[in-house]
Amino acid sequence: YDAKHRRDTVVVYTPESDHNTPERLSLLGDLRRALDPDLVSPAAGEITMYYQPQIEIQTGAVVGVEALLRWRHAKRGMVDPEELIKVAEQSAVMRLLTRRVVDDVVEQLAKWQAAGVHLRAAVNVSIRDLHTLEIVDQIKERLARFEVAPEQLQLEITEGALMADPRRVLATISELAKLGVAIALDDFGTGYSSMQHLRRLPLTEVKVDRSFVLGMATDADDHAIVRTVIDLAGALGLRVVAEGVEDERTWRLLRGVGCHVAQGWFYARPMPAEELVDWLGRYRPLNPS
Ligand code: C2E
Ligand code: MG
Ligand code: MG
Ligand code: MG
Repeated sequence: YDAKHRRDTVVVYTPESDHNTPERLSLLGDLRRALDPDLVSPAAGEITMYYQPQIEIQTGAVVGVEALLRWRHAKRGMVDPEELIKVAEQSAVMRLLTRRVVDDVVEQLAKWQAAGVHLRAAVNVSIRDLHTLEIVDQIKERLARFEVAPEQLQLEITEGALMADPRRVLATISELAKLGVAIALDDFGTGYSSMQHLRRLPLTEVKVDRSFVLGMATDADDHAIVRTVIDLAGALGLRVVAEGVEDERTWRLLRGVGCHVAQGWFYARPMPAEELVDWLGRYRPLNPS
């Protein structure tokens, strides 16, 4: 028993086990300070949203933007969002962070609207955000307060979120969909991709992970994967967004396989809200047809 018990427990690695390193704790503490509206703490730095355009491939029309978090830490400089989310997800700070992101993005949509710019914005949410219905109420309130239509907001979820607690997550997503908020499945093809997710969730869109898109022009397998996701999604009535489109060749390949929407450095990098308006003014569709 003893040997088996030890074999079963000793080597178990949990995210909690590196959760308390001084490095992570100090990052979390700074993040908490940066998110506290009542606390002026220059040392924690500033959290802002950047926006990356999403372009309909056939028409060249800008159909929306994805909101991406940026945290400029006073001492560390720009913190890698992926790293930041990994740390935040293990604590209650994640909810505060998402609350801030949703608040900022809805307010920004209202500002653009007032300036005559009609866009849809996608917000990334994490596992923890979907475990309760709290986010539904928050989004409802915020949209009403700023007179933004639910259809202008989209949430991007990853399949990891679905694995953690499928029933509760499904309940939250269903409420959001009922409200009229669009739901995209992000990073599709990585992790635990399952046909069940595509079938059971009230999705409007699937985002092909950029690892496949980046390889499309040079790797036949990546090309085949992207093409297959597009066919599958098309058959299920879902729109496909390719992320990580870095060059014209990839854009042409995507157009060739009937991909609906593209996002990537080829068009534009994520940028601050004010720059986006200038960018839209300068933007000319490539080969519309
Ligand atoms: P994601 O949602 O899959 O976002 C796409 C990532 O690809 C972004 O990285 C974006 O800047 C990057 N990207 C866009 N175009 C290109 C391209 O052409 N080439 C390459 N190589 N990369 C491109 P970013 O901004 O560093 O964000 C990384 C991840 O962090 C996101 O992946 C998302 O999972 C997470 N994240 C970012 N902002 C938020 C947020 O507000 N909330 C949550 N929960 N997660 C966020
Ligand atoms: Mg995303
Ligand atoms: Mg993605
Ligand atoms: Mg990602």
